[in-house]
Amino acid sequence: MVVAIDGPSGVGKSTVSRAVAAALGLPYLDTGAYYRMATLVTLRAGGDPADPEAVLTALKNVEVDFVGGRLLLDGVDVSADLRSPEVTASVSAVAAHQKVRVAVVELQRAWVERHGGDAVVEGRDIGTVVFPHAPVKVFLVADPEVRARRRAGDPEAAGHTIDSIREQIARRDHLDSSRETSPLRPAADAVTIDTSQLSIAQVVARVLDLVGTL
Ligand code: C5P
Repeated sequence: MVVAIDGPSGVGKSTVSRAVAAALGLPYLDTGAYYRMATLVTLRAGGDPADPEAVLTALKNVEVDFVGGRLLLDGVDVSADLRSPEVTASVSAVAAHQKVRVAVVELQRAWVERHGGDAVVEGRDIGTVVFPHAPVKVFLVADPEVRARRRAGDPEAAGHTIDSIREQIARRDHLDSSRETSPLRPAADAVTIDTSQLSIAQVVARVLDLVGTL
């Protein structure tokens, strides 16, 4: 069974997804890490993230895995590099290329298949595109101000003002929601949870309730 958890950044997706996976004893897949990885390998190869062919070429030359919440590139844990400002600034452009999405979605589906088809998968298009038949689909949202404050607490936000974090969130939201391929939006059968006023434990409990009602 796939539990699909989608939504924009700063709504608590990763923390909630990890906790739900732990409670259910299922593996956890962060699909955003794959788009960040595609961005990282392109930048490292000196390619232009705006050029889909440069991204696809860079992707062809690497072995990717996601183990215990860490992304391994040719066996090396690059999770910290995926959060660099350079990667964050270019990832939405990379994720907007249709051909890149096809290649990345294939890697994500293969990962879930290798894990027996059962996983908690977080992203932007899991319920709409990657696993449209997932029996549980959750779309997390939160007030922009709450999201900016949450992001400000992340190590990657060190040195950034709350205004610049708010701007960056708005820019990525716009790019992710307005792109032609797999735009960020809830699946028709997703349950939307506003996490603005809820603790992580409360959100996790709601998702586990949804799983329990299957
Ligand atoms: O979740 P995270 O912030 O790491 O995602 C980074 C970027 O990857 C998002 O802003 C979005 O452009 C892209 N993404 C996507 N589809 C997903 C997951 C992430 O387009 N399923």
